Amino acid sequence: MTTWYDKAASLQADGRAFIGGERVWAKSGQQFENLSPIDGRTLGMVARCDGADVDIAVAAARAAFEDRRWAGKSPAQRKRVLIKFADLMQKHGQELALLETLDMGKPIKYSQTVDVGGASNCIRWYGEAIDKIYDEIAPTPADSLALITREPVGVVAAIVPWNYPMLMAAWKIAPALAAGNSVVLKPSEKSPLTALRLAELALEAGVPSGVFNVLPGYGAEAGAALALHMDVDCIGFTGSTRVGKQIMQMAGQSNLKRAWTELGGKSANIVCADCPDLDAAVESAIGSIFFNQGESCNAPSRLFVEASIKDRFVEKALALVPNYAPADPLDESTVMGAIVDATQLKTVMGYIEAGKSGGARLLAGGKQARTETGGYYVEPTLFDQVDSNMTIAREEIFGPVLSVLSFTDVQEAVRQANATQYGLHAAVWTADLSKAIQTSRALRAGTVHVNQYDGDDITVPFGGYKQSGNGRDKSLHAFDKYTELKTTWIQIG
Ligand code: NAD
Repeated sequence: MTTWYDKAASLQADGRAFIGGERVWAKSGQQFENLSPIDGRTLGMVARCDGADVDIAVAAARAAFEDRRWAGKSPAQRKRVLIKFADLMQKHGQELALLETLDMGKPIKYSQTVDVGGASNCIRWYGEAIDKIYDEIAPTPADSLALITREPVGVVAAIVPWNYPMLMAAWKIAPALAAGNSVVLKPSEKSPLTALRLAELALEAGVPSGVFNVLPGYGAEAGAALALHMDVDCIGFTGSTRVGKQIMQMAGQSNLKRAWTELGGKSANIVCADCPDLDAAVESAIGSIFFNQGESCNAPSRLFVEASIKDRFVEKALALVPNYAPADPLDESTVMGAIVDATQLKTVMGYIEAGKSGGARLLAGGKQARTETGGYYVEPTLFDQVDSNMTIAREEIFGPVLSVLSFTDVQEAVRQANATQYGLHAAVWTADLSKAIQTSRALRAGTVHVNQYDGDDITVPFGGYKQSGNGRDKSLHAFDKYTELKTTWIQIG
C-alpha cells in the first residue's frame, strides 16, 4: 500500500504562477524557496510575483471580464462548470490534501476532511446556488417598471492567509466566480501550493482562461500591488487586523475599490456553573483551541469559567491535553501538527513567555516539541489565573495556547468578553434559556454559540464585528460582496 510518506517523496510541486490559463514564472525571474514546517525540507521554488505580474494578471482578468467569456454565460452554465470543478477537487483530493499538509503542517486527516472536503463543498454549493437566485421588481407607480438586478463587480482580487489555504481561497473564489467575476487570487507566501493547483483544476473544469488567475508572492509586493491597483474593482481579504487596515487604506488611496475584510479574533468561551454538560464543554473548549494547532481565527482562546466550577473544569481539561500532543502530520492518527513556519513559532513562544512573565500560571505545555525533526511544533499549552489585562488575554496568539479566566457574575464575564478590539466568535454554556438568550444578545461577535462551539456550515455567514472585519464569507450573503446592485427604470407608455 502506498503511504502518505511515499506519496510525499514522489510529489512534484509546481510553484509557478497561473496567469491567463498558463503556468508562468514571475516576469522578474525572482523566486523564493518554499519550506515544509513538518521537517524543514524544501518543497521547491515558488514564483515571487510583484507589481509587473499583477499588471499582467489584472489585464488578463479584465479582458476576460469585458468579453464576457464567463460573465456572459447563463447561471446554469456557470453552475455546471463549478460543479465539475468541485468534482475534480474531490478526484484529486489526496494530492490536494498532501500539498496542504506539507505546505502548512496540519494533520493529513483534517486536510482531507476539513480542507479538501470543505473547499470542494463550498465550490459546489455556490455553483448550485447561482441559478436559484432571482432579481427583484420594485413596487413602483404603474407608469414605470423598476428592476433591481445583481451584476458582477468585475475584477476581484482575493488575498488569503495560510491557516486554511484552500478553504479561505474557496470562500472567496466560489461566490465571486459563481456571480460571474474574474478573479486574481494571492495565496499566502507561506502556503501557496494548493491555490496554484486549484487554478489548473478550474481550467480543466471549463472556467475560461483569464477568469481565474493565481499569483504567489509576498504581501508587501504582490498583495499591495493588487490592493493599490486602479483596475481591481473589489478586494476580498482574509488575514490579520494589522494588514486589513492597510488594505482599506490602499483601497481608499487608489480607486476606492470595495474592500471586504475578514480579520483576527480573540474569542471568548463562557462556561456558567449551570452548564448542562460539563464534559461536553471541556471537550469542546480543549478540542476547539487546539484544532489546527490553534491557528484558527475563531479559536476560543479566552475561556471564562464560573468560579464555583473552575477547579473541576481545569482538572478535566488537563486530563485531555495530552491527547493533543503534536505528532507527525503525515500520520493518519495525528490531531495536532506543525506550526506554519519559524516566524510563527517564534511569535507563539514569545506569547508563552509573556504569559509566564505576566503572572499567569502555566499548567500544561509551554515548550517546543519534536525539535529533532527539523520542523516547528509547540506543546498544547494551558494557562490558569489569567487576568483580562494580560497580553495573552488581549492579543491574538494564533497558536495552541489557552488562557483560563474566572468569573462570579455572568454580566461581568460578558463585559470582559466584549472588552477587546475583536468580535469574531463567542460562546456561552448554560442550561438557563433566558440567560443563554440574554448573554448571546449581549456578546458583540459575528457568531455566538450556545452549548457548543463547532457549529459550522456553508449555509451560515462567517465574519466579525469591530476589528474582526467588515465582511461575511459563506452563505448567500457572500454574494453581496461580489455583486453590484443596479436599478433600471423603464417608462411604460
Ligand atoms: P496576514 O495579514 O499576515 O496575511 C494575510 C495575507 O495578506 C497574505 O496573503 C499576505 O501575503 C498578505 N499581505 C501581507 N501584507 C500585505 C500588504 N501589505 N498588502 C497586501 N497584502 C498583504 O495574515 P496571516 O498571518 O496570513 O493569517 C493569520 C490571520 O488571518 C490571523 O489574524 C487570523 O485571525 C486571520 N484569519 C481570519 C479569518 C476570518 O475569517 N476572519 C480566517 C482565517 C484567518
